[in-house]
Amino acid sequence: MKTIDEAKIQALVAQLEAEKNLPDRDMAELIETPLLELTNRLLAEAADRVRRKHYQDEVYVRGLIEFTNYCKNNCYYCGIRAGNACVERYRLTQEDILDCCRTGYELGFRTFVLQGGEDPYYTDERICELVAAIREGYPDCAITLSIGEKPRASYAAYFAAGANRYLLRHETADELHYAKLHPASMSLANRKRCLWDLKELGYQVGAGFMVGSPYQTTANLIEDLRFLQELEPDMIGIGPFIHHEATPFRDMADGSLELSLRMLSILRLCFPYALLPSTTALGTIAPNGRELGLKAGGNVLMPNLSPVRVRQSYQLYANKICTGEEAAECRSCLELRVRAAGYRIVTSRGDVKR
Ligand code: SAH
Repeated sequence: MKTIDEAKIQALVAQLEAEKNLPDRDMAELIETPLLELTNRLLAEAADRVRRKHYQDEVYVRGLIEFTNYCKNNCYYCGIRAGNACVERYRLTQEDILDCCRTGYELGFRTFVLQGGEDPYYTDERICELVAAIREGYPDCAITLSIGEKPRASYAAYFAAGANRYLLRHETADELHYAKLHPASMSLANRKRCLWDLKELGYQVGAGFMVGSPYQTTANLIEDLRFLQELEPDMIGIGPFIHHEATPFRDMADGSLELSLRMLSILRLCFPYALLPSTTALGTIAPNGRELGLKAGGNVLMPNLSPVRVRQSYQLYANKICTGEEAAECRSCLELRVRAAGYRIVTSRGDVKR
């Protein structure tokens, strides 16, 4: 016989699946309930139904090129923050990056994600030149940038040069929480301004947040969902916070696998159309984390295409996986994992299906 609590959870999941939303109080109950096994199973089943309705068994892969680990910012959680003197800094040249694209294209990638710290060397002019070169070489591919907060005019210039998508996690939609994760020189208002600018300019936009970041509350997570409902981004990237030894958050607890999966399923139910990556951070806190992420509603994977020689230096958090493997090894390993989980990697740009 089911307990009253179990029946309540079942009803909440059904309501979320039907209405793509829940009032704050019910959302909080779903996020906080200690009925771990039941809640995560019901949520994952519902999320998988919804993802299959919109995206069948397709999994989209993005080739991630971490092209610079120089950064002028000092986010308290991030391992490549300016204040970390222990990182060996590197930046790839345009030629290096085009080599990564060539390898990636041969492996079936049709999206390249250029991610990096906010590196002043990479001026707008250099970014535009780089984007234009990739655009020319790979007209059938999507180019995604993930290089932080810029003026609107810069975003417009990258778009004109051929960029299609932009990933900029909002990190947290709560002002006070934002201020606990970032120095006073950074603001949530500017981060949100960037996201709205990117959207208006015609980019496919990705926002998102860390799960279990220091000082995060259930109310914060609900605020994240509310902000995302307003923004309606094409992509939503979430993953557990993982502490890094050389940051002010070195002693903070990591986010949990269970809450990360729960939030992923809730996102799938709130945003049936969305591109939801099963992230490397998820794969880092559990050996089968990325598979579980796919089963919980994820439909995107972002394997690393960066040259192996620099991978160790792009450690945003501790013990990051796949830092020793070549792109081709990562690709075939993923192929097997995805198939075993019951899905299928497809060679396509993998645009959002609204
Ligand atoms: N400079 C770019 C790219 C940031 S790295 C930008 O500002 O958008 C991409 C994401 O990694 C960040 O948005 C953050 O959410 C995540 N990240 C950073 N440090 C992390 C940590 N210690 N644990 C988990 N995720 C982290």
